[in-house]
Amino acid sequence: KQPVLELQHVSVGYDSPAGMVQAVNDVSLTIYENTIVGLIGESGSGKSTLGNAIMHLMKNNAVLTSGTIKVMGKDVYSLTKNELRKFRWSQMAMVFQSAMNALNPVLTVEDQILDVFLSHDKSMSKKEAKKRARELMDVVSIDPRYLKSYPHELSGGMRQRVVIAIAIALDPKLVIMDEPTTALDVVVQRSILDKIKEIQKVKKFAILFISHDFSLVSELASKVAIMYAGRFIEVTDSHSLMNAKEHHPYTEGLIRAIPHLTAEEVTIEGIPGNPPNLVELPTGCAYHPRCRYANELCKKKRPEMRHVDTRDIECHLYETVQK
Ligand code: ATP
Ligand code: SF4
Ligand code: MG
Repeated sequence: KQPVLELQHVSVGYDSPAGMVQAVNDVSLTIYENTIVGLIGESGSGKSTLGNAIMHLMKNNAVLTSGTIKVMGKDVYSLTKNELRKFRWSQMAMVFQSAMNALNPVLTVEDQILDVFLSHDKSMSKKEAKKRARELMDVVSIDPRYLKSYPHELSGGMRQRVVIAIAIALDPKLVIMDEPTTALDVVVQRSILDKIKEIQKVKKFAILFISHDFSLVSELASKVAIMYAGRFIEVTDSHSLMNAKEHHPYTEGLIRAIPHLTAEEVTIEGIPGNPPNLVELPTGCAYHPRCRYANELCKKKRPEMRHVDTRDIECHLYETVQK
């Protein structure tokens, strides 16, 4: 299988008055064609920062402080502005967090889709672009008559489908989806997810699916990266994620935080404490202030990534377990 996305030791910081916010801290990951990889973590763990960094669409105060990001074998940060403009959307695309509210309110759905086709292929006729727009509406199951509508005339679910349609318009090899269903109610969420799965099966692009919804990601993705304070603390296949007895202590906490529906009650056990300050990370393992297993070593030394069976786990505990 061909690697579509290769992250090697990627770190991204935000320049802030308080110092450098280490939002993404030395992460590595490869995503192959035709696979869905999930990215899970609490709010503020660096998920969107990483997604935006892959697209080379970062906020003004963001800096790629180390590492390389390759998409389809090309270093995204070595492309010229012009090459990058062509590369985006045709090779890699992103559905941004709360993107459905970011559609241009004064343009019809059709004009926004036409814009994607016509700006990337100057030789395409308007007639051809209109035909493609109709086909695209078909793919995301929206009646083509809505092409003439303005975003506010569509439901939230339809707007999100339009955003997905725009992302996949040029058949990119990598699609990053940042919380694509979070703002929608459960029933609509389900139908969008089914649609994403269906399209992916046909088009075979790779998806990096960002979410904080554990059960949703483990259902959709074949592999899952779990992010804590800017680091991947566990990268695992979804089967092990749901079935393994042992996990990284943070993953274990997340699993415990999935609502358990029993006959009498719903119990949710959150992880005590808060994510750390990303300007001044805790010494050693960044999770140690919240970890129920933390020992002296955890406070002093940052654990290295360990390969355990089919999983990569960053925890001292696993180091000893493996010996
Ligand atoms: P969420 O689940 O809430 O979307 P996230 O995992 O996507 O969270 P990011 O948006 O990537 O998290 O933010 C990572 C960290 O970077 C957070 O601590 C956030 O406060 C910080 N951050 C984000 N943007 C900036 C910025 N422009 N300047 C300084 N810090 C920022
Ligand atoms: Fe907990 Fe130590 Fe493992 Fe960090 S390294 S997760 S503090 S046991
Ligand atoms: Mg985010």
